[in-house]
Amino acid sequence: MRVLLISAYELGRQPFGLGSAASWMQEAGSDVQCLDLAVEELDEEKVKLADLLAFYVPMHTATRIAIGMLPRVTELNPHAHLCFFGLYASVNEEYLRKLGVGTVLGGEFEEGLVSLVRRLSRHGHSADGRQPEPVISLARQHFMVPERKWLPLLSNYAKVDLGDGQQRVVGSTEATRGCLHRCRHCPIVPVYDGRFRVVQSDVVLSDVRQQVSAGAQHITFGDPDFFNAPAHALEIVRALHDEFPGVSYDATIKIQHLKKRMSLLPVLRDTGCLFVTSAVEAVDETTLLAYEKHHTRQDFIDVTREFRRVGLTFNPTFVTFSPWTTLESYADLLNLLTELDLVDNVSQIQLAIRLLIPRGSRLLELTEVKKIIGEFDEAKLCYPWRHADPRVDELHRAVLERVGQGAEVGASRRAVFSDARTLVRNALPADSSLRIALSGELPAQAAPRNVPAMTEPWYCCAEPTDAQMLGGRAAKL
Ligand code: SF4
Repeated sequence: MRVLLISAYELGRQPFGLGSAASWMQEAGSDVQCLDLAVEELDEEKVKLADLLAFYVPMHTATRIAIGMLPRVTELNPHAHLCFFGLYASVNEEYLRKLGVGTVLGGEFEEGLVSLVRRLSRHGHSADGRQPEPVISLARQHFMVPERKWLPLLSNYAKVDLGDGQQRVVGSTEATRGCLHRCRHCPIVPVYDGRFRVVQSDVVLSDVRQQVSAGAQHITFGDPDFFNAPAHALEIVRALHDEFPGVSYDATIKIQHLKKRMSLLPVLRDTGCLFVTSAVEAVDETTLLAYEKHHTRQDFIDVTREFRRVGLTFNPTFVTFSPWTTLESYADLLNLLTELDLVDNVSQIQLAIRLLIPRGSRLLELTEVKKIIGEFDEAKLCYPWRHADPRVDELHRAVLERVGQGAEVGASRRAVFSDARTLVRNALPADSSLRIALSGELPAQAAPRNVPAMTEPWYCCAEPTDAQMLGGRAAKL
């Protein structure tokens, strides 16, 4: 069975999911090849030779790119069985079936992939029809160390920029999948529904080891929330630091967990954590309640101050434009970021992120959301929505345009933030007190410091614009 595993995009990382799938399928006796189109061209010969073409879709952008490739790959190889696996496969099952995808595997996909190759080996294409593998599996698997030898070199992927001109080669791994929480806007919830699964620590550490041998100087933990299993996380980072004291890492942790476990921040710092990303999403209580984030504005403020006190870099992310955003709440967010001296910690694209409403989103439970969405857009894999106040959509367009212009000329976070501030100030009514608060220059940074960050700042819960799709990886296809 010749298998071609294809990844389209995963935030600039060498994809754990593709390597994990490769291990399991190799073990099952398949002849495996991999393609990562984020950094490689489509290899037509590999496509033509495959019996099974399996697309890894861990995020929205990757799914749209993979779907965009289907006409080309099926033209090259009309006989291969098509499979989509990863977080966004199951929620888009109906549409994928219409496109001729035979097997859809969401959640813990590895066992399903092995079952698929065995089924195809036994029955060939007569195995097409209703798949026996569960479309969503939450099996507690014993993982295998990802096989990364067929993936491009780590040096081809996004780097971590230390903020002082130096960059480090980045490896990535996962210590858990899924999430204990059920935030309404999160794409993980329709699949894991408040559950998570652990990748065994010996597997994670072996994966780190092989990437350090391959040149990684920094490890990104791709877990949706590193503190869903804090003891597991700490065991891993302590072992990582003991074995590789010069290797840094970053992780994503929600505000609720950071607030509850502030005493662990020094442990992260002392084991080589370079920064922590946290999906703050909003600072107004209305939006936080709508998302069921289970943190407050004050929690965000407290956590920010604790990071600064401990000397660890905080990388907050936001869904800046949502149905609950108002001109005032956007201005308030920028004011708060300024007050907390976080302007340099927020990447430019964060100022223009617009809420994505995919199929299965818990946001569809809300009457106010149902009122503003249109028919599901299959090409964009989401429900289009319009803000009740057209001035907010207009502000979003203007900020996004400014972010795009800034990216072309390499404008700093501070410069783009300053322009976003001007844009919202001009959009606010003349007598608004927020407008007055935003007048004048952006205060200078309280103290010059280097803010480490990934060179690929894209974020998964956002609705990519057509321009971003075409300007990004899809352009290669
Ligand atoms: S937004 Fe974060 S904390 Fe909430 S469900 Fe998703 S991964 Fe979990």
